[in-house]
Amino acid sequence: MREPPLFPPTRTAGLDRLAAFVPHAGADYAMGRNTDPGPDAPAAVSRLSPYLRYRLLIEQETASAVLAEHSLHACEKYVQEVLWRTYWKGWLEMRPQVWARFVAERDRQREAFRDTRAIADAEAGRTGIEGFDDWARELVATGYLHNHARMWFASIWIFTLRLPWALGADFFLRHLIDADAASNTLSWRWVAGLQTAGKTYLATADNIARYTNGRFAPKGLAEQAEPLSEAAMEPAQPMPQLAPLNPRTPALLLVTPEDMHPESALPRDADWRAALIVNDASLLWGDGAREFVRAASADAGMRVTDHFGCSANPAARLDAATLIGAAHGSGAQQVVTAFAPVGPVADALTQAAPVLAAKGIPLVQVRREWDDIFWPHARKGFFPFKQQMPRLLAEIGMPGR
Ligand SMILES: Cc1cc2nc3c(=O)[nH]c(=O)nc-3n(C[C@H](O)[C@H](O)[C@H](O)COP(=O)(O)OP(=O)(O)OC[C@H]3O[C@@H](n4cnc5c(N)ncnc54)[C@H](O)[C@@H]3O)c2cc1C
Repeated sequence: MREPPLFPPTRTAGLDRLAAFVPHAGADYAMGRNTDPGPDAPAAVSRLSPYLRYRLLIEQETASAVLAEHSLHACEKYVQEVLWRTYWKGWLEMRPQVWARFVAERDRQREAFRDTRAIADAEAGRTGIEGFDDWARELVATGYLHNHARMWFASIWIFTLRLPWALGADFFLRHLIDADAASNTLSWRWVAGLQTAGKTYLATADNIARYTNGRFAPKGLAEQAEPLSEAAMEPAQPMPQLAPLNPRTPALLLVTPEDMHPESALPRDADWRAALIVNDASLLWGDGAREFVRAASADAGMRVTDHFGCSANPAARLDAATLIGAAHGSGAQQVVTAFAPVGPVADALTQAAPVLAAKGIPLVQVRREWDDIFWPHARKGFFPFKQQMPRLLAEIGMPGR
């Protein structure tokens, strides 16, 4: 018999998991979240990340759900972790060149390490390092790793094995179901000491033994973590301004893997002529993520038809020709989508937009209130960002205390 998937790819499954987690989002999470008990044991963390990554669930509704049962003081740790995601997304949005830099560095290192066994051994879990080898295999088998395991793994990859950080980040992107341009790239940069100048993350055997319930106590780990260096970064650019949506213009509703809950992003009563649910394998890095999004797209199609009252058709490509064909076929004069942050979907939309515009079809992106409120504050480190949390939660109508 086939095992049920670790992450059933529907919004309902995400909501059920959220509901089961909410009672534990206070003290249980705060005390247990750093422990990785292993893939087969119950953990204190929510395992909601694939749902949040593709926006089958929205940060705002998860924060809202836990704040409905706990005071902010009691569930602060959980809300802060969700805000790490929001922070990384906002930070990268204002520095898109960091993503471009990662892609260039990854391609350069892939070429440089093409015929070496070191990468293949690390990815296959053949280094002989206890824990590290297990996490490599766990990642490939399940598409998920606990946050602490991701930190230990990245630290050992960079400082013990002395492998290029961009190839480690690439390994994660190809296997994590929640693989995300911002959270993954910037977390790897953070471990490497590129993200917060001079600060690195050093994995130690004691810390690993303690937080794996004694499952692993690797020997021979690096004892120092000298920060990596890079060319100076360009300053943050302002958040991109978006053209407003005219709800009276006949519209094609576009759903991409960046936001699969258009019901909470777009107005119901616009003049929707049809919807296009894009399931384009080239927008994702790994088979686990592709499989999740493929099934989640079918789920999104049904929800969109129910909510917006228009037909929803699948599309295997996100390009100008597909969008123009779908707009013409449905009588739409604009293409409307929930905002796509820095990454492959945004790149595809940037390429398609001028071709659509030349045909008189504007591409309109709608950013969520949560992102509009939080992202502009991701200019510096997480600490000043986090300090704004109570005020910004209150601004969005949630209990800020
Ligand atoms: C090297 C490295 C790579 C990572 N790559 C990714 C990635 O590609 N995609 C991804 O979604 N997360 C990534 N993370 C962040 C984090 O590890 C996962 O989001 C988390 O482990 C998901 O498990 P959970 O849902 O049980 O988390 P919980 O602890 O239950 O947290 C709730 C939610 O908050 C968010 N979150 C929690 N911790 C973080 C964090 N440190 N950074 C950003 N968001 C966070 C996630 O959306 C998560 O679902 C990475 C972390 C590291 C150290």
